[in-house]
Amino acid sequence: AHLDRIDAVEGAVHAFLHVSDDVALATAADVDARRAAGQSLHPLAGVPIAVKDVVVTEGMPTTAGSKILEGWVPPYDATLVERLKAAGLPILGKTNMDEFAMGSSTEHSAYGNTHNPWDLERIPGGSGGGSAAAVAAFEAPLAIGTDTGGSIRQPGAVTGTVGVKPTYGSVSRYGLIAMASSLDQAGPVTRTVLDSALLHELIGGHDARDSTSIDEPLPALVDAARQGALGDLTGVRVGVVTELSGDGYQAGVSARFAESLELLEKAGATLVEVSCPNFRYALGAYYLIMPSEASSNLAKFDGMRFGLRVEPTDGPVTAERVMSATRGAGFGDEVKRRIILGTYALSAGYYDAYYGSAQKVRTLIQRDFDAAFTQADVLVSPTAPTTAFKLGEKLDDPLAMYLNDIATIPANLAGVPGISVPNGLSDDGLPVGFQILAPAKADDRLYRVGAALE
Ligand code: GLN
Repeated sequence: AHLDRIDAVEGAVHAFLHVSDDVALATAADVDARRAAGQSLHPLAGVPIAVKDVVVTEGMPTTAGSKILEGWVPPYDATLVERLKAAGLPILGKTNMDEFAMGSSTEHSAYGNTHNPWDLERIPGGSGGGSAAAVAAFEAPLAIGTDTGGSIRQPGAVTGTVGVKPTYGSVSRYGLIAMASSLDQAGPVTRTVLDSALLHELIGGHDARDSTSIDEPLPALVDAARQGALGDLTGVRVGVVTELSGDGYQAGVSARFAESLELLEKAGATLVEVSCPNFRYALGAYYLIMPSEASSNLAKFDGMRFGLRVEPTDGPVTAERVMSATRGAGFGDEVKRRIILGTYALSAGYYDAYYGSAQKVRTLIQRDFDAAFTQADVLVSPTAPTTAFKLGEKLDDPLAMYLNDIATIPANLAGVPGISVPNGLSDDGLPVGFQILAPAKADDRLYRVGAALE
């Protein structure tokens, strides 16, 4: 049924870069056979899933939205893909994204943009716009995204889907094509909070192949979602972050946010106002740390190891000239912009002023979170300042695009978990997201409060 739906709407939505009919149908048949044989199966066995194209999949093309990886077929699976396969989830294919996950609109994909199913003239968010659009358009019931600065939560907000960035280190990064290794986390994209909890429990937990993986069991996420669905939040302290609402947020976004705060209060939660004064520096610190790490991570795309190789035609074929020609042809504008920013910030003479200061700000933001979580059990804000903007509207203005991540970035800098849940429609008829943040390793709180709002 999902493959039929993909056939019917992909022409308009373009959520996928690759559809793997054969693989999905073979897994479905295998699950049917195991069920018929009376084997016990995972609750999500047979439920199809779409995977963001930055996650490596054995035998299935993986491009990270870039021409530099066109035609590359990975020889192994990411840990999270191994877990999906072991549980019997048919993989429908790989979803579109901004090149190397750099962007907030999916317009930086080298393979054409994805359209928001709510209004095909508008962006589906980014970088994981393909995963969010696939779920919103009913092409897939579940999807995997990755979130370095908001790329699961912001697409969730603007497509009316649920998106979760888990605690840093709680879902293995083994097999993710790294953007910024200290910020990246993979997580669920779904239509309900309970679906996200089920998927999160499946893909999460310790993995020895990721040196930053937390060697502890996950909290009970599915139980927390079921408890939250009963609608009783008595005793839960909800912190409203002063710096993440108000000025700069669209009127309809602010109105829906205020209504949800009332709902939380009616469910028994206590609202407290908390201030995180250093959040105002988060965007600046992120756009130094993220490009710095990315400039190093992307050095491996040199025309020799993976994917594209371009030899210069106008002179000697030296290693340096092959790298230059390959990277010049293979990377898009946004990726080049960030590599230049990152190498500049890391260069001798500037390192302390830029990268060093950004790391200090990162510590201040972590301290803001620590202080806020003594006053509140969860923190809340709108997920994104506006609803989906028009395709092309911010493409020529990188700073305007970066501002979309203002509310999502602090969580990545601190490593804490966050969820975006649908928060109704703004005055323009487009979906709005409600963000909930929790302390590291307390992802269960996201599910409890998120499910209570559903
Ligand atoms: N939009 C942000 C950026 O462009 C976040 C990207 C992400 O989370 N992968 O960097």
